[in-house]
Amino acid sequence: MLTTVRADIDLTALRRNLAVASELAGGARVLAVLKADAYGHGLTAAAAGLSADADAFAVARLDEALTLREAGIGNRLVLLGTLLDEGELRQCGQLDIDVVVHDPKTCARIRSLRGTHLRVWLKLDSGMHRLGLPPAAFAQAHRDLRDCPAVTQLLHMSHFASADEPDKPYTTQQLQCFEQLRRQLGAESVALSQANSAALIDRPESRADWVRPGIMLYGANPFGAGHPLALTAVMRLRANILALRDIPAGDPVGYGGDWVAPRPSRIATVGIGYGDGYPRHARNGTPVAVGEHIASLVGRVSMDSITVDVTGVPAVAIGDEVELWGTRVPVSEVARCAGTISYALLTGVTPRVPRRYHDARDATDSTADGAV
Ligand SMILES: *Cc1c(COP(=O)(O)O)cnc(C)c1O
Repeated sequence: MLTTVRADIDLTALRRNLAVASELAGGARVLAVLKADAYGHGLTAAAAGLSADADAFAVARLDEALTLREAGIGNRLVLLGTLLDEGELRQCGQLDIDVVVHDPKTCARIRSLRGTHLRVWLKLDSGMHRLGLPPAAFAQAHRDLRDCPAVTQLLHMSHFASADEPDKPYTTQQLQCFEQLRRQLGAESVALSQANSAALIDRPESRADWVRPGIMLYGANPFGAGHPLALTAVMRLRANILALRDIPAGDPVGYGGDWVAPRPSRIATVGIGYGDGYPRHARNGTPVAVGEHIASLVGRVSMDSITVDVTGVPAVAIGDEVELWGTRVPVSEVARCAGTISYALLTGVTPRVPRRYHDARDATDSTADGAV
C-alpha cells in the first residue's frame, strides 16, 4: 500500500541535540523538557531515547509524569507549573516526582503534609507575569519551605519572557531581579534554574545549576533556521503526491482561487492538510521538498491536502513522497511562513498521523499509530 502521511522520529537526532545542549550547559545539569507529548514527538519514546543521557525530565501535567513512571522511566522528573491537591502531592512524593510551587496555597499544603517527602522548585515571577510568586511572597515561601520537614530539597526557578529576542534588555532585568532577591535572602547557594533553549543558547550568564531546554532538543532553533548552532531535525513530516495536473496561465488553484498561475504550471496535490496539523495559514511560497528540489506551496491549505507548484521540477510522479518539514525544510521556516512558531507546528501534528521511530543505537525501528 502507498503510504499517505507519516512522521518519522529520529531518536538518535534527539540524543545528538541533547548533547549539544549539554555542551552549552557547561557544568549545569540538564532538565530535558518533554511536555506536550514531547513537543508532539511521543512522550514515552522520547523519554526512553534520552533516559541514559538526561539528568532529569520536565513535564507540564501530572498525567504526563504518571505516564512516564508507568512506562518504567526512572529518571528524576519535574512537574512544571500546575496546581496539586494534598492527594496529588502525596502521589508525587511516592513516585519521586519533583513539584514546582508557584502559589501560596500549595506552599501551605506542603507545609501541612506529614509522612511525605518532596523536592520543591520554588518559582519566582521575575517579570514574565505568567506563573510564579512575586518577590515578597517568594521570600516568605522560601523561608517557610526551607525549614519544612516535608521538603527534602528546595530549589529556585523562574522563566524568561523574551530570551528569544537577543536585543531586549528584559532578560537582564529578570536575571537581576532574581539575583538581588537571592542575595537579600542569603540564598545564593540554593540550586537555581532559569534558562530555556533560547537563554541556554544566547545568555551564558543565565545557565546557573540547571538548564531547561525544550524546543532545541527537537532540532528547532528558537532563533530561526538561519542561526549557526548545529541542531538536527528529529521529526520528518512527509506525505505523497496524490495527483498531478498541468494548468494554463491565469487559472486559479484551490479554495477561493486565491492563487492564480502566473504562467503555465504543473500542480502537485499532496495528501496532507490542516487535519494532520499542517498549518492552514501557510502562505504561498512556503517551502516543500520535492525530490532534490524545494518547491512552493500555492493556494489555500485544505483539510486533507495541499497544492504545490512543481513546474520545472524534473521527474515528479504520482505517489512520490515530499517533505513538509524535517531535515530539508526547517520546521521553523514553515512556521515563519505560517505566522506561527515551530512549537505550535510540532505539538499540532494530529493523532491521525502515524509516528515511526528510528534509533541507530538499537537498530530496531518501530511503528506506532497516532500520538504515543
Ligand atoms: C516549555 C518550558 C521550557 C522549555 O522552553 P523551550 O523554549 O522549549 O526551550 C522551559 N521552562 C519552562 C517553565 C517551560 O514551560
